Amino acid sequence: MIDLKDSVKNINPYKVNKKDYKVKLDANEGCNYMLNSKLNLENFKPQLYPDSDANLLRKNMAKYYGCNKENILVGNGSSDLLLTTISSFCDTNEKVMTFEPSFSMYSIYCKISNLQHIKVKSKDNHSFSVDSIVRKYEENNPKVIIVCNPNNPTGSYLDKNQIKNILDQTKKSIVIIDEAYIEFGGESSVDLINNYENLIIMRTLSKAFGLAGLRIGALISNERMIDKLWKVKLPYNLNSASQFIANQAFKNLDIINQHIKMIIEERKRIIDLLKKLEFKVYPSMTNFIMIKSDIKDLAEKLEKKKVLIRDFTKDIEDHYRITIGRKEENDYMIKKLREVRNEERE
Ligand code: PMP
Repeated sequence: MIDLKDSVKNINPYKVNKKDYKVKLDANEGCNYMLNSKLNLENFKPQLYPDSDANLLRKNMAKYYGCNKENILVGNGSSDLLLTTISSFCDTNEKVMTFEPSFSMYSIYCKISNLQHIKVKSKDNHSFSVDSIVRKYEENNPKVIIVCNPNNPTGSYLDKNQIKNILDQTKKSIVIIDEAYIEFGGESSVDLINNYENLIIMRTLSKAFGLAGLRIGALISNERMIDKLWKVKLPYNLNSASQFIANQAFKNLDIINQHIKMIIEERKRIIDLLKKLEFKVYPSMTNFIMIKSDIKDLAEKLEKKKVLIRDFTKDIEDHYRITIGRKEENDYMIKKLREVRNEERE
């Protein structure tokens, strides 16, 4: 059988195993707050091709993100837009620079496009310094830099001055700021798109909007950049169901804002409870928390109690990521964590 090309044939495929659970806190999803009560299917026309340019959605997004419709390209999740951008700018063997640890798909995108992946290591507290980012940039001359802000899985955050500082010193690269989690307390850099011609912001409706299943992402940049990337956008790339439901979500921003507020309050409460349970807890500006656990195989032990969290121990020894869910889900997770802690003590 003909084999895949060298750069991809050894990739560990991103397979999501189906597991039995009562509480699912392993994938940073949001809550299904809108679809039960507010969805109106009256004018939905699945027999027609979707609006290829997603005009209404881009108009709604522009108002929400604080830019113009002409600054936005939409795609099948920000995953799709990230791969499209990297593969459109980089020729074989050019360099993409990201944090380490960071969103695991970045390294797969590099392999798919046959690129070198350069990594900026986090400090001991799992935050990142502007100096180390700029130093790595100067040493390696990457074509693309992806700044995941706030970062997944560490939860660490670079403030606006740090972001401007990075942008001022990395003008020869395309700088993508992946703001998948920015709604949970951070300040977006969308307002900088006309100040830096190399700046691209990625946003998604998968997290704060709770619409991960619909696969809706937005790439936001200056108009010249959007015109360039439009060349590689496939026609009808965002299906009509996703556009239809997302447009209704933008009519219900009050519910979304309530959800975000609830997550931020819950995050504070859960951080305190996790500390009381003697885990090392890292600061977070996201809808998840990274912890260091002295209990071995914590994810496995919780899975037996039907609570799913994400095991990061292969990337960072003893570290796990827990998504913040609704109060009752978080309470259940804490209850089961307390049980595991007590069982370890016995
Ligand atoms: N960026 C980051 C940092 C993420 O954590 C994720 C999803 N976990 C994505 C992008 C992809 O999001 P989407 O659902 O929009 O493809």
